[in-house]
Amino acid sequence: AAGGQAELLDDLNPAQREAVTHAGGPLLVVAGAGSGKTRVLTRRIAYLLGERRVHPGEIMAITFTNKAAAEMRERVAALVGRRANAMWVSTFHSMCVRILRREAKTLDMSSSFSIYDSDDTKRLITLVARDLDIDPKRYAARTLAVHISNLKNELTDPETAAANAGNDLERRVAEVYGEYQRRLNQANAFDFDDLIMRTVSLLQAFPDVAEYYRRRFRHVLVDEYQDTNHAQYTLVRELAGTAPNEAGVPPAELVVVGDADQSIYAFRGATIRNIEEFERDFPNAHTILLEQNYRSTQTILSAANAVIERNPNRRAKRLWTDSGEGEKIVGYVADNDHDEAAFVAGEIDALAEKGEADYSDVAVFYRTNNQSRVFEEIFIRLGLPYKVVGGVRFYERREVRDMIAYLRVLANPEDTVSLRRVLNVPKRGIGDRAEAVVATHAERERISFAQALRDAVEGKVPLLNPRSVKAIGGFVALLDELGVLIADGAEVHDVLEAVLEKTGYRVELEESEDPQDHTRVENLDELVTVAREFTEITAAVVADENAELVVDEGVPAPGSLPAFLERVSLVADADSVPSPDGGEEGDGGAGVVTLMTVHTAKGLEYPVVFCTGWEDGVFPHMRALGDPTELAEERRLAYVAITRARKRLYVSRAITRSAWGQPSMNPASRFLDELPPDLVDWRRLEPSSSGFGSFGSGSRGTPRAATTWGGRRSSSPSSSGTPSFGKGWKDTVALKLDVGDRVSHDKYGLGTVISCDGVGPRATATIDFGQAGKVRLMLIGSVPMVKL
Ligand code: ATP
Ligand code: MG
Repeated sequence: AAGGQAELLDDLNPAQREAVTHAGGPLLVVAGAGSGKTRVLTRRIAYLLGERRVHPGEIMAITFTNKAAAEMRERVAALVGRRANAMWVSTFHSMCVRILRREAKTLDMSSSFSIYDSDDTKRLITLVARDLDIDPKRYAARTLAVHISNLKNELTDPETAAANAGNDLERRVAEVYGEYQRRLNQANAFDFDDLIMRTVSLLQAFPDVAEYYRRRFRHVLVDEYQDTNHAQYTLVRELAGTAPNEAGVPPAELVVVGDADQSIYAFRGATIRNIEEFERDFPNAHTILLEQNYRSTQTILSAANAVIERNPNRRAKRLWTDSGEGEKIVGYVADNDHDEAAFVAGEIDALAEKGEADYSDVAVFYRTNNQSRVFEEIFIRLGLPYKVVGGVRFYERREVRDMIAYLRVLANPEDTVSLRRVLNVPKRGIGDRAEAVVATHAERERISFAQALRDAVEGKVPLLNPRSVKAIGGFVALLDELGVLIADGAEVHDVLEAVLEKTGYRVELEESEDPQDHTRVENLDELVTVAREFTEITAAVVADENAELVVDEGVPAPGSLPAFLERVSLVADADSVPSPDGGEEGDGGAGVVTLMTVHTAKGLEYPVVFCTGWEDGVFPHMRALGDPTELAEERRLAYVAITRARKRLYVSRAITRSAWGQPSMNPASRFLDELPPDLVDWRRLEPSSSGFGSFGSGSRGTPRAATTWGGRRSSSPSSSGTPSFGKGWKDTVALKLDVGDRVSHDKYGLGTVISCDGVGPRATATIDFGQAGKVRLMLIGSVPMVKL
């Protein structure tokens, strides 16, 4: 039951309305940040369903993250109800997985294929390069992987790559690429880039398949079009079509929205060519410009415009807003990265205390993930609730990957990379030599590694000693036993529990002396919980008779192992951004401060934004300093960062930074100089000369903020001119702790030290506070903790 047309179009400006109601030929909406591009897409879907009587199943919408997809679906569901479920709203990758599952047979694959992430890819490339006798010192697996990925993003197949190769590197890459593809096929696996590339070749090589999707999806909508690469562009073109097909089915209605100034994925092959050439790529295309910004204050917009204007060869566009000047931008020059973090924390506290912002209104951005550490330390110390998005992810942890590998082998026995990963994990007496013998047998017989293992058990593999044969026999029997569970329809979490028990994986960790292994057990418990929730949520959806479930042929059954693996494979950093309503438990409703890289922040908005680390060499990144193309990309990144802010924007830099081990001194970011001076209120412009007693007026002297780093320093490292922590730190008293020591902390209570790390100013201890959890603390400065 859709709202009336009036409701759908009411709060849109004329240009937005035109985009929402546009019918017929391809449409490009180009517009600066915060001008309602995403809103136009969502509204258009609602309009199609409500006013143009389009069936939800005819709609395919592509977003940049799974989270954005879920949100779009929710927003549409709020407008049109349950019918929203039949739409395909997903990322490029999820969409391709869906198509590939359905069409796997056509490509000679099975629909239970595995999806290899960059780590699996690197493992397989390492194996291939070794077999091809490529010197890893000359050509590292990572380098080969990057080149192969680039080729795939350009839709270049191995044969073409070989034909085009002009130097030794390119020849080697082409050679590895060809063999790598062969092994992927054999393992019934796709890597991330394959998901797109193989879907494109599927649609191009099989007209009947293309026709099925052409008939089905009459509306294709793409958000963040500026970040599509060549492969993704071709995919959109193949799906939507540019002319009636042989059966006379006209092209789908295509609407893409984007902003060339926000193109920040050139390193993944994204190209703004796709926006610039839209009208050439799609005949009869129409373009709509949006110019009113609804997100930010005029001050924030003017700052953003002033920065992006410096980029050469861009189409000028001026965004305006009628929301008023707003607050000035606040600038801060910190002595070092700790001081910067303390300033940020102090400001957040002050805003919260004055009731001007909840924690969930605040985002802190940095250029690279490793910059989050200092913020975490300070935030933990001050008790400021926060969430870091990205970084070392849960699914990248070794023990989690091991378990996922087991599950993948059970779902797809041909998955060689996963199979070889767990072959001797935990140790069961299958050594490297035995593995190599089996691998050679598999190669020679042109059979899968799994089949070769079975041959080994039957004594068909020469050169294996009886001990290895016995061990392999045990492993194969174990997998068969677990396979029976799956055949009997066990839930994913039960399968996972069975793997943990029957392999002895859990026991081994539990009995280990290494405290890290206990953390691993907890992570595995967490994984079981994730799996259980996955089953329960799906069960709830299936049980809901109002839910219109679309179960396509080939798509894994809801709640099944392949469905679970698919979800795990496709999670991205941005999917774990906390919701603005502050959904985290135990935070008193004020939510958490979100910390993330600027890349992850694309498309999001926050009332209060801190742009930190604006130093030449950090942001813009070191790599970009001498390279105009890279510098332009960094400037677009700065534009993205600034335009996430709705009401308040902070920019800060630190004079010294310790993030990469060696403390370094960086000059101010050139982007700071590009901000119009009258828009910025500098709280502190010079390094403090009076030591570090205060970190600017911003702290407002809240009691918690008083426990800062600075108080104990005798001299500022910047005043001595040496980019090191130098003497200042020697005077400070570090708490000396050893593993096993008992401590009492003002906030966390009693605890036991489980590990110690680092020396001098970087000494830390990880302490188990029981109920309060495990916490890693710096030991220098005024730690509110005593050794017992
Ligand atoms: P970005 O380039 O960052 O992705 P965008 O162009 O997609 O931004 P949206 O996120 O769709 O912009 O919109 C920015 C904000 O402005 C949102 O909060 C949105 O709800 C609001 N907004 C958009 N159009 C209107 C409008 N006509 N009236 C009121 N608010 C609007
Ligand atoms: Mg958007």
